[in-house]
Amino acid sequence: MAKVNVKCPFCGQTKSVKTHGLGKAKHQRYRCQMRSRTFQLDYSYCACQHGMKEQIVDLAMNNAAIPDTAWALHISIHAVVRMLKNSRHDV
Ligand SMILES: [Zn+2]
Repeated sequence: MAKVNVKCPFCGQTKSVKTHGLGKAKHQRYRCQMRSRTFQLDYSYCACQHGMKEQIVDLAMNNAAIPDTAWALHISIHAVVRMLKNSRHDV
């Protein structure tokens, strides 16, 4: 397993990130040793991009309808509903 200089999106560390194989769409996966979480730098599906959850919650707090949020962010309505349901306390 080779070490690479990739910043972890969860803790911000670069020392603890190692490669972790390839994703389904053949994008490189990385694993943070500090928090034992995996991530990718590129995702095929826009809803998985880092920061998307914050954008959805921000639009929801500004009274944007779920279909409007999905249209603006180029993701599905189901992805918006799923992220709003799962973002109770951690944003
Ligand atoms: Zn980390």
